[in-house]
Amino acid sequence: MQDCIFCKIVKKEIPAEIVYENDDVLVFKDIKPASPIHLLLIPKKHIPTFFDLQPEDSKIIGEVQRAAATVARDMGLTKQGFRLVSNCMEDAGQLVFHIHYHMLAGRPLQWPPG
Ligand code: AMP
Ligand code: ZN
Repeated sequence: MQDCIFCKIVKKEIPAEIVYENDDVLVFKDIKPASPIHLLLIPKKHIPTFFDLQPEDSKIIGEVQRAAATVARDMGLTKQGFRLVSNCMEDAGQLVFHIHYHMLAGRPLQWPPG
């Protein structure tokens, strides 16, 4: 999608600190980290929100979650763990309308979130 900042990162039109990539998924560092480790995991396909998911997208979303485990394992987080969170629409604070999961790690995290 032309005006989508995450699509531009997928197409390498704007820079990002990419930490993992496969055919379906891109993982890069959040520009404004909220924890010592703060990554964004996105499907390469432009899907604005969970409400736009089609049956054929199930595999892609599964691949994003599998990528979370791969990246976390590579970063040595299997014991400490991580939080995977996705903001959907206004009340959740979604700012970028290309589905993404935040991976937060590297410190104890509060629950419930604000
Ligand atoms: P959300 O509020 O869930 O839509 O989160 C959007 C996230 O994207 C925020 O945490 C931003 O800091 C992050 N972000 C926006 N632009 C960029 C960028 N160019 N590179 C990396 N992260 C970005
Ligand atoms: Zn997009």
